[in-house]
Amino acid sequence: MKVTIVGNMCTWTKELSTSYILNDDMLIDLPQGSFKTLYNDYDLNKIDYLLITHFHSDHFADIHLLLDIFFKRFDNKKLTILAPKGCKERIVQMLKLFEVGYIEKYLDDSVTFLDLTDRATYKLDPYKIKAFKMQHKSLDAYGFIISDGKVKVGFSGDSIMCNSVHKILKHSQVAFIDGASVEPNNSHLTVKEVEDLSKEYSEVKIYPVHLSYKSQEELEKTGLEKTYPGQVVEID
Ligand SMILES: [Zn+2]
Repeated sequence: MKVTIVGNMCTWTKELSTSYILNDDMLIDLPQGSFKTLYNDYDLNKIDYLLITHFHSDHFADIHLLLDIFFKRFDNKKLTILAPKGCKERIVQMLKLFEVGYIEKYLDDSVTFLDLTDRATYKLDPYKIKAFKMQHKSLDAYGFIISDGKVKVGFSGDSIMCNSVHKILKHSQVAFIDGASVEPNNSHLTVKEVEDLSKEYSEVKIYPVHLSYKSQEELEKTGLEKTYPGQVVEID
């Protein structure tokens, strides 16, 4: 599996927030401002699947731009969106807000919406995706284990330490884990916690992501993996 790190940072930095493309055809999260990079650096016509971990703006805000290009420029484009419950309703509100209401007519015929549920498995050929409800404030937020039949790759999305983080690491070969914080809080894992996890799950290659400048600085002091925008991680 090829995982391209479109962005690796959090909102409070100048760089792009965390987003990934898997094997050219699956996009995970669409942070605010990410469309500029996605449009210019990647072939969006190849995207068949969109996974949204939760509805915070640094994971979801550019979705109207993606849909706009899909239905304006590409012929008969179909898209499956796997997201927390209520995604379609939120998109309809955004389309009105941003004066692209014409897109609404495509949502019924060209977009398949699948609601995420804790521990449910979704088959999006060739992928098998297992969803895990994470702990991120009081949001309906999800992480995943994504398998292509050969490897299993974990994504925590935004989360504090919880049972789902352990489940994801227990069953993944490589995992992209929230490392936004330095001090413990109710939103994100700390670099120290990710470092402890990397010792507990030493066979898993862990990439801390969703970084702040502070957590990035902290990360420099550890032996944990570094990430950068546009990085391609080949997993086999
Ligand atoms: Zn969030």
